Amino acid sequence: MKVKMPKYYIWTIGCQMNKVESERLEALFTEYGYQSTKTADDADIIVLNSCVVRQHAEDKVLNKLKNLKALKQSRPNLKLAVTGCLVEPNIAGLKEKLPFVDYFFKPAGFPPWLDKPATMSLPANSDLSTYVTIMQGCNNFCSYCIVPYRRGRERSRSIAEIIREAEELVKRGAREIILLGQNVDSYGHDLPDKPDLADLLTAINDIEGLLRIRFLTSHPKDMSEKLIDTMAVLPKVCEQVSLPVQAGDNDILKLMRRGYTVEHYRRLADLMREKIPGLALSTDLIVGFPTETTEQFQNSYGLIAEMRFDTVHVAAYSPREGTTATRDFKDDVPPEEKARRLKLIEDLQENISTSINESLIGKTVEILVDGKKSGRWRGRTRTDKLVFFNSKVDYTGQLININIESAGAWSLRGKLISS
Ligand code: SAM
Ligand code: SF4
Repeated sequence: MKVKMPKYYIWTIGCQMNKVESERLEALFTEYGYQSTKTADDADIIVLNSCVVRQHAEDKVLNKLKNLKALKQSRPNLKLAVTGCLVEPNIAGLKEKLPFVDYFFKPAGFPPWLDKPATMSLPANSDLSTYVTIMQGCNNFCSYCIVPYRRGRERSRSIAEIIREAEELVKRGAREIILLGQNVDSYGHDLPDKPDLADLLTAINDIEGLLRIRFLTSHPKDMSEKLIDTMAVLPKVCEQVSLPVQAGDNDILKLMRRGYTVEHYRRLADLMREKIPGLALSTDLIVGFPTETTEQFQNSYGLIAEMRFDTVHVAAYSPREGTTATRDFKDDVPPEEKARRLKLIEDLQENISTSINESLIGKTVEILVDGKKSGRWRGRTRTDKLVFFNSKVDYTGQLININIESAGAWSLRGKLISS
């Protein structure tokens, strides 16, 4: 008799880390013979991979849980599992709060109803551009951030294990690997022979068939000169760094417990730009941190104007239960004022991104073609800029040269000049 295998649906919200963890779960379920479904309604098991980094994300998760509770009432055999950053160490407490959820497992954890397989699960066909988690957790405890409380302390994977996974992904179709961690600059300090990110990049650079390497997220207090020099010489490592500044005011940076000053950040960015020509720098910024005055916000605004980042991810401060900022400060910047500051930064950055992109008009850039979406061929530059082009030939997975003809804030358009 043929055994009916369960059908699963995974709902993911949040950062790349959650996305990659959901991909690995999918691969694991496939290994177990589970089938994926297009909608949650058809599934026998639903996994909710959650994010609580800001209230907005948490609200989405709680809303989803409400819907799932109703679904479970109409279909009592349906199994519900929750993973991701909603899952706090006190699982018993969560079970009490959300009794209709069958299973909780911590971020990057293993579904508790399955037996652990000996081998890791990887997608059968890898995306051209694919993520590899090189370390879990964070030791930094920035005062506003919930991540260390949910993902625990830093744990690095060995270089050998990461290389094995990256090689396997390349065999399965990956051409670009993006190394992931909350603070990748501190990679390896917890391993016996203390390798660092530069050593890891050097090893990955040798993988045959791999075309590009990126990594994120870097921390300004941990970025080493060795890493910068290594980036500058390794041909596959792209000229792109994600270096969150979070604030442009030293007093706010101190309250955030970031461990560096604006002056340090500026020196570091200058050094990187000097040693890595054409470097694309992106950053994260929080506006409306407790006690942030208009002058202090102006310092952030000024820094964003001065640094001319390629990309800025700006967020309004959101108090997170359990963090020291929530314990020590009142969330005293009114929501309308946070929204105003957010909009000012977004508008400023839109102009900067547009002018950076316009400066590429007439230049030739190399792109890795990632396919055709909505009838348009597309790919990304080494600096991670999205480029559209026309072609009769399918160059997916290949590096091609494009002459840029027009540009906007979010993408570029150009003409294929060689293959
Ligand atoms: N580890 C990285 C770093 O050091 O910046 C990023 C990790 S964090 C999950 C991603 C981004 O979310 C942060 O860069 C920060 O800007 C934002 N974030 C984290 N906690 C926040 C909070 N309580 N309110 C608003 N934004 C927050
Ligand atoms: Fe959160 Fe700071 Fe760690 Fe980034 S470095 S994950 S912002 S605690």
